[in-house]
Amino acid sequence: MSNPQGPDPRLMSLVLEMRQGGIRDEKVIRAMESVPRDLFVPLAFQDRAYENTALPIGHQQTVSQPLVVAMMTEALELTDRHKVLEIGTGSGYQAAVLSPLCRRLYTIERHRGLKEEAEKRFAELGIHNITTKLGDGSVGWKEQAPFDRIIVTAAAVDFPPVLIDQLAVGGIMVVPIGDDFHDQRLFKVVKTETGVETTEMGWVRFVPFVEGEVPE
Ligand code: SAH
Repeated sequence: MSNPQGPDPRLMSLVLEMRQGGIRDEKVIRAMESVPRDLFVPLAFQDRAYENTALPIGHQQTVSQPLVVAMMTEALELTDRHKVLEIGTGSGYQAAVLSPLCRRLYTIERHRGLKEEAEKRFAELGIHNITTKLGDGSVGWKEQAPFDRIIVTAAAVDFPPVLIDQLAVGGIMVVPIGDDFHDQRLFKVVKTETGVETTEMGWVRFVPFVEGEVPE
């Protein structure tokens, strides 16, 4: 966001941490610089919004650690032609970082309250290329498939087969896998003509990917 005093120093130091953490793509750095993370966390955590740490957002969910948001965003190798699917809107922070880097983002969240709060934040920030949906992301978004990129921001026990189906050939999916909070790894999946190629990106900690009916 524009600021007459120049860039927010807290954002500047966060971005420095992203660089130190190995983020090289300048487009990703600029996208991170453009999103005020304090708008995405509850009031009680505002003073920690620019720490490189995950924070609670209610409903026992968390907004991801900024360096992980940056790593996942970088791994997607986005262009402004890409149609992207996100599973797990949460606070909307990851979606807001993806928004300037892609053509359109479709994002699914299973908690109504989180979805509605995220929608308000997108409107407040003047973000218009995000479409939200309440539902179970394990079935993807059939009407909009195939997607050039898919990002899953909750830890699945295995690669969700429907999401691989809904990924275009040549497309990239980034997904944390593991059924224990202390034993999850991030994977980059590239869909080929004949199957998928997976690369491991390191250890992460995400809330679980929950399949089935959405809570009331
Ligand atoms: N991308 C979010 C991270 C939120 S945490 C952010 O930037 O804030 C992960 C989110 O995934 C939670 O809000 C959780 O409710 C949601 N989630 C978990 N399983 C899901 C599923 N099957 N479908 C849709 N959302 C899901």
